[in-house]
Amino acid sequence: MTNKRKSPIEISSDEFKKIGYKLVDDISNFIETINEKPVTTGETPKQIQQLLGNASLPENGTNISELIAKSSDLLMQHSLLNGHPKFFGYITSSPTPIGALADFLAAAVNPNVGANILSPMATAIEKQTVKWLTEFIGAPPSFGGILVSGGNMANFTAFLAARTAKAPTSLKEDGLMPLNGEMVFYCSKATHTWIEKAAVLFGHGTKAIRWIPTDAENKMNTEILSQTISDDLKNGKKPFLVIGNAGDVSTGVVDNLTAIASICKEHNLWFHIDGAYGIPAAVIPKYKKLFEGIQEADSIALDPHKWLYAPLEAGCTLVKNPQHLIDTYSSHPAYYNFSNHEDEPSLNYYEFGFQNSRGFRALKVWMALQQVGKKGYIEMIDKDIDLSQMLFAQAKIHPELEAVTQNLSITTLRFVPSDYSQLEKESHEYLNRLNENLLNKLQEAGEVFLSNAVVEDKYCLRACIVNFRTSEKDIQEVIEIIVREGRKVHETLQGK
Ligand SMILES: *Cc1c(COP(=O)(O)O)cnc(C)c1O
Repeated sequence: MTNKRKSPIEISSDEFKKIGYKLVDDISNFIETINEKPVTTGETPKQIQQLLGNASLPENGTNISELIAKSSDLLMQHSLLNGHPKFFGYITSSPTPIGALADFLAAAVNPNVGANILSPMATAIEKQTVKWLTEFIGAPPSFGGILVSGGNMANFTAFLAARTAKAPTSLKEDGLMPLNGEMVFYCSKATHTWIEKAAVLFGHGTKAIRWIPTDAENKMNTEILSQTISDDLKNGKKPFLVIGNAGDVSTGVVDNLTAIASICKEHNLWFHIDGAYGIPAAVIPKYKKLFEGIQEADSIALDPHKWLYAPLEAGCTLVKNPQHLIDTYSSHPAYYNFSNHEDEPSLNYYEFGFQNSRGFRALKVWMALQQVGKKGYIEMIDKDIDLSQMLFAQAKIHPELEAVTQNLSITTLRFVPSDYSQLEKESHEYLNRLNENLLNKLQEAGEVFLSNAVVEDKYCLRACIVNFRTSEKDIQEVIEIIVREGRKVHETLQGK
């Protein structure tokens, strides 16, 4: 008799090493040659579906070397490569190689970071990661929090903590009904769509959102904010939260955080900063001033899977007084026996957020922070900003390009044909159509991946550089590609 059960899903040690080493070789080669590949193959969903086939659920098992080879091929040959040095779309970063190894390790050990007893070391590592992220952005040490799946969840997690903390009644027992839709909250027009999702999902409705206009620099107009709060108070509403952006999702503008903080103080409102994209730039001494006011925030959302280059998924909610998270999310069912050390209360992350069972997403962030240190991150983030500024400067001097905005590492620009005349009546619409067609063409062709922004009715190409692989040469080449393809699209539209 042996106590080794023969399970069909177990892999022998020899075989695991054989296929594992091969997979590591293939991944290493994939990373090594990523700059030679197109950013995307531009295959249609139908073509992708054909490659995958539509076999029904397999009845029997299959050879695992072949399975790994097939899976690697499908993914490496038919994905959009956000690790490519010319990928500048949306806000998705090149993933750190150490993050891939960290996820491999985390999955192998598989700690459930919902409760300390299930993940003693992983819980301690997550706690240290949260502390380091707090130090990274320069927030006071009282901040604590939790890792979540991304920016949306990081903002949701804070939103509900704010609501529990500032509600005039006990939301836990009474719910929202007695408040009769009186709770309202404030954010600028440039705020990410998470706020609408939050309004809908958490029972306020989108009418509870006070969209504050932006000023000429695209920052929240704090005079209008003040006025709107006063009007709401006069009308018996219950304001509870103001959201400031530290890098808005479209053009990277950082709101005047100190001004928002003092308005929040005046009216006893929760001040939340959505720093999902931009707040890591606060680590750079010369940009620190832009982020003044971080210290005054009640909560902050950040996204290690954006500008800390962690592979998806990793977001983080930081709260100045983490007790507000526990007040919002904790409950103690009879079937949990999780607080067994009387003298030393255990840290159970299920009490800090939405999730119960939780994966170990902190590991990839924790390891990357140590691999290069704060110094390495300063170098990479600073370089991303330099490259973005370089793209803007080159667009500015090019006769066929218009440089539109540049903030943090986001540049917007558009192609303007040399025979375009300011005086033509339909020119505005034409330029929008031209640049939209150009973007679609660029995205399909796969030489470079940009996304779009609409700035004061101008349809722009948008490059967001959160990419530690991008070089000066890439920027130069991107300028050439945009102009070359822009001319072609213009000719086509002119029927030439
Ligand atoms: C990206 C982003 C979000 C959403 O984050 P996800 O990780 O995509 O969920 C929210 N706010 C801002 C400012 C962002 O840039």
